[in-house]
Amino acid sequence: MSHIRSGCVVCGEELVYGQSEKLECFCCHKILDSNAKCGKGHYVCDKCYSMPGNDLIENFCNTSKIADPLEFARASFAFF
Ligand SMILES: [Zn+2]
Ligand SMILES: [Zn+2]
Repeated sequence: MSHIRSGCVVCGEELVYGQSEKLECFCCHKILDSNAKCGKGHYVCDKCYSMPGNDLIENFCNTSKIADPLEFARASFAFF
């Protein structure tokens, strides 16, 4: 693989590649197999990762369970 994601889209933390496991996408909450998540455990599926920014934010706003507005702002900012 030549293209490696530079970091978590949610918090910017470095991604950790380990064994494949079931992870819940942070944006759409689908459970998918992945071997990459960030140090804080965030996972964003390929579909959401490649989604245009606005759609992602919209989707994110609709499904987000984040209660802390500060964390939400930080997470939103990371998408741009
Ligand atoms: Zn993260
Ligand atoms: Zn997703």
